[in-house]
Amino acid sequence: MARTSCRACHGLDGDVVLDLGDQPACDYFPAWDDPGPDPVYPLQMWLCASCGLAQLVADPTVPEEPRGAEPAALTQQAADAVQRVMAADWLRVGARVGEYGSPHGGSWLPLLAHRPMSVAGAGERADVVLDCFGMMHCSDQVGALAERTARVAPGGVLLLQFHSLATILRRGQWNSLRHGHYAYYSTTALASMLTAGGFTPRTAWQFDLYGGTVLLAATRNTDSEAAPDATVRALIAGEEKLGVRDPERVRGLQHAAESCADAVHQWLSERQAAKTTVLGYGAASRAVALLCRAGVDSSLLPAVADASPAKQGRRMPGTDIPVIGTEELVAAHAASILLFLPDLLTEVRNGLPQIEASGGRWIDVETLVSGQQEH
Ligand SMILES: [Zn+2]
Repeated sequence: MARTSCRACHGLDGDVVLDLGDQPACDYFPAWDDPGPDPVYPLQMWLCASCGLAQLVADPTVPEEPRGAEPAALTQQAADAVQRVMAADWLRVGARVGEYGSPHGGSWLPLLAHRPMSVAGAGERADVVLDCFGMMHCSDQVGALAERTARVAPGGVLLLQFHSLATILRRGQWNSLRHGHYAYYSTTALASMLTAGGFTPRTAWQFDLYGGTVLLAATRNTDSEAAPDATVRALIAGEEKLGVRDPERVRGLQHAAESCADAVHQWLSERQAAKTTVLGYGAASRAVALLCRAGVDSSLLPAVADASPAKQGRRMPGTDIPVIGTEELVAAHAASILLFLPDLLTEVRNGLPQIEASGGRWIDVETLVSGQQEH
């Protein structure tokens, strides 16, 4: 097997910190009557000992993700982020903005359309270069960052938004690891990458999205001698305490994967024994990894609902569980609906009031593991 080389600093020293074994491609949803078996590929996270970037080891899969529905939580967070960045004067009237988006949504551009700003064309220089969960989809991390920094106009700012590795560790979100997502940034690792690219992190904002999302602002070293502010320093100090660069600490995700899969399997088995119907909601990559790891099939979970028409009529990769639409979900009158994406809770409760009106309950999958069922 070829030796792993860091996607950011090309360092060769590091550790495999999470190994989920062979997994189906989480973005390949076969037709519901495709009997499988689905091809599987190794899925591992590696932590670079030099720059601290947690990353996907190898990815032999080809992205073919059916377009998911953009969660309301993501668009609300984008609006919040625009407000906060403008209030802090990093996004000014007349600015040219260049955006690197994500296939999962969350673009700022629709929010800027009604403001006195202009959108830079592809490859053009911009005063504000924004990467909104985009760069993690690039296999060559140092190349992707260089492309973004090169587009920052003199005196401009680079804004990088990411689901933080610190959050993944604090909340045991082992199933954030997926094919197609090459990097799992801590503020520490991203600061190291920026420094190597001639940029300095200046300030940061935090959001509750995905349990903890960071937006980092960085400027070119030659523009000013400004240093990281107290927010950035506090984030990095907190991460050091947490152990984001410590392979033993990050390996805790392996334990989280095992206890989470056990908890979900046991809970579903108990519901089956009690003859209560449980259906799932959210045919996302996190659900694919969890159901595969937990060995759940349609006898334990007869269907997973999803708002994306592109996924309906298909089945979950690696198992025989069909993906259904929300109308079918409502008509099924399940006693409990296991929600695989906790960020969607408010949206689904508001959008599908019939579920609770007919006695159904939404169960946040993260509460099964922590042993506290609130909803
Ligand atoms: Zn590295």
